[in-house]
Amino acid sequence: SLFDMDGTIVASSEKASIVTQYQEIAALASELTGSCVESQLSLTTESAPKICILTPVVVKSITIGVLAVSIDQSYFGSFASDDTHTFIIDSSGYSLFPSQTGQEYPDIISSSLVRLRQYTGDSKELTGTILQKDTLTYSLFGYRLLPEYNWVYLVQQDNSLFSSLITVIPLLSIVVGILFFIVSAIWSSILTKKYTNPIYELKDNMEQACQNRLDVHCNIESNNEFGELSSMFNRMITIIHTNYTEAIHAKNKLEEKQYELEETNNTLEKIAYTDCLTGLANRAAFLRDATNLLHNHDGNIARHAIIFLDLDNFKNVNDTLGHDYGDLLLQQVSSKLSSFMGEGDIFARTGGDEFLVLRNKVESTTELDQFASTLVSIANHPFVLDDETVQISMSIGVALFPQNGLTVTELIKNADIAMYSAKTSGKNNYMFFNSSMEDEVNRKNEIADILRDAIANNELYLVYQPQTNIREGGVIGSEALMRLRSSYLGYISPAEFIPVAEECGLIDTLGNWALEEACRFNKSLIDQGFTPRTVSVNVSSVQLKGNKILPTIRRILSETQMPPEYLEIELTESVLMHSIDHNLYLMNEIKKMGVHIALDDFGTGYSSFNYLTSMPINTLKIDKSFIDGICVQEKDRYIAETIISLAHKMNIAVVAEGVEEQEQLDILQHSDCDIIQGYIFSKPLTDKEYIELLAGNSDEEEE
Ligand code: C2E
Ligand code: MG
Ligand code: MG
Repeated sequence: SLFDMDGTIVASSEKASIVTQYQEIAALASELTGSCVESQLSLTTESAPKICILTPVVVKSITIGVLAVSIDQSYFGSFASDDTHTFIIDSSGYSLFPSQTGQEYPDIISSSLVRLRQYTGDSKELTGTILQKDTLTYSLFGYRLLPEYNWVYLVQQDNSLFSSLITVIPLLSIVVGILFFIVSAIWSSILTKKYTNPIYELKDNMEQACQNRLDVHCNIESNNEFGELSSMFNRMITIIHTNYTEAIHAKNKLEEKQYELEETNNTLEKIAYTDCLTGLANRAAFLRDATNLLHNHDGNIARHAIIFLDLDNFKNVNDTLGHDYGDLLLQQVSSKLSSFMGEGDIFARTGGDEFLVLRNKVESTTELDQFASTLVSIANHPFVLDDETVQISMSIGVALFPQNGLTVTELIKNADIAMYSAKTSGKNNYMFFNSSMEDEVNRKNEIADILRDAIANNELYLVYQPQTNIREGGVIGSEALMRLRSSYLGYISPAEFIPVAEECGLIDTLGNWALEEACRFNKSLIDQGFTPRTVSVNVSSVQLKGNKILPTIRRILSETQMPPEYLEIELTESVLMHSIDHNLYLMNEIKKMGVHIALDDFGTGYSSFNYLTSMPINTLKIDKSFIDGICVQEKDRYIAETIISLAHKMNIAVVAEGVEEQEQLDILQHSDCDIIQGYIFSKPLTDKEYIELLAGNSDEEEE
């Protein structure tokens, strides 16, 4: 269409529209300058939208009208339809197509125009995309610059595809998820069953095994670890089963053994706490039971007594009748004593002929006195042992709890001291312990201490008591007698220290010393030129135990060079009787060495002439107690005479000991006694005094 400046169509390809005035064109016509063609806003004159291209008609530089060409939208074909959100924008941002739409995207339009304006001719810059972000949505546009028209071709991506996808995907995800869950659940249940069933089976088997059913068997037959576990379990349970069976077997055996052990233990305990000869409790049992009784009180300490019983001269029974009779006697004594024990009393045999009684709950000393005297009198009755009847006696010591000691051992010790006192004061009686008895024991202990170092301390020495020939009067020898003078206790008599030495085992040392000292002294006398004389040395019963005395005598004789015939060993009769066969052997051996033997203290013991004949003795020493009687009693004198004449018949010399009176001497001379040893002639002399005596004697002899 051709318009004039008023906007009226002057000519048109469409006849119908001629003369129609368009005010908009009129307004535009004045603004259109130059001859360039520019796109302009289309005019909608018809129902179908069209693009109108205007160009001024210039004549002689004066615009006289406007030529407008309208392009139908269909020109753009299917690219530019409303449905596809396609825009064609001109350089002023005007949407050529679709008309006036697309204004809702001002940012897209302005940025596409920027690209258009900045286009420099590079083909790469012709196309591209622009993304617009709204608060909630994204709009993606593709553009194509059309520089030849100064247009931009914009196409919006259809979001419906994405949005449908976006709505479908979560749903799909949920469905897939649910499906996945169901499948997983089914699968995991299958897997779980596959893996838990064997575990449950194992667990069940284990449970049964724990309940001691060891014959269980696991039947998982698979090649995986469960199969291995199952067979390992079976092997393990087999091992356990075998071991268990063995253990049960061993346990049963152990129980049997334990029973046997308990039985043995009971028997052993019975043996350990019983005296097998009498069936009484023994020392261990007494200590145990007495300790329990003394210390298990309910706060009120009751008075008890411990009684020590010892048979007097029990050894004699053993020695004379033999051990079988000794045993019989002990059995009879114990059963007799048992019948006198009261309720709660403890009665035990604690040694050879020693018994202990714990008298439970003593009411009074009078009652205890009575009890002790009953016990003594029981022993006084004769005991019939098979074909023999023996008369014995018993010494008893009593210690009171708590006065005389708080422990059983202390009480036993004190009862023993009291018993010992009863023995020393004549036997066959009882004594209650008192502290003076303890003094005696203490003195004994002190003497024992002194004796231990007496030789080294020069506190021990010998004196010599001369023996004289009753007919010719000369000194024929001496008896060596031991003396002890302690720097602490002063002079101690041999009657006191010799028994202590015997008790504490020192007599061997002291006796050997005396033997050696006497031999050395006697040899020195011979060496000094004195007529050789005999020295008599006392030998204790303890020294005769075993054979040790024989080498000792041999050694001393060889060391001192003393001629054996000038040594005389004095043995007491009672000592010899204890083990007569052994002592006879020793005497014969001593005799073979050329040493003389004297039987000491004759008349105080058995004085058996039967034994006398079998003993290889040279001298018989009649005891002082016997000599004391010869002046007073006719009978004693007669016996002395008989002894002397009998001894002479056996070629034994007789020594009378302890002669103090002239009258005694006269009788002895008359009775044809050979030698006297007594104060009437001389007391025991020191070595010096003895030498002086001998020297005086030799002078007399010379005269
Ligand atoms: P025993 O062997 O019978 O010794 C004789 C005891 O009588 C000596 O006493 C002596 O001194 C004493 N005596 C001698 N004549 C008379 C007298 O006329 N009147 C009085 N009242 N007594 C007289 P002692 O020396 O006290 O010895 C006592 C006992 O000690 C000895 O008796 C002996 O058994 C033992 N004894 C002494 N020395 C030793 C020794 O070295 N070894 C051993 N084992 N015992 C010894
Ligand atoms: Mg003697
Ligand atoms: Mg004597």
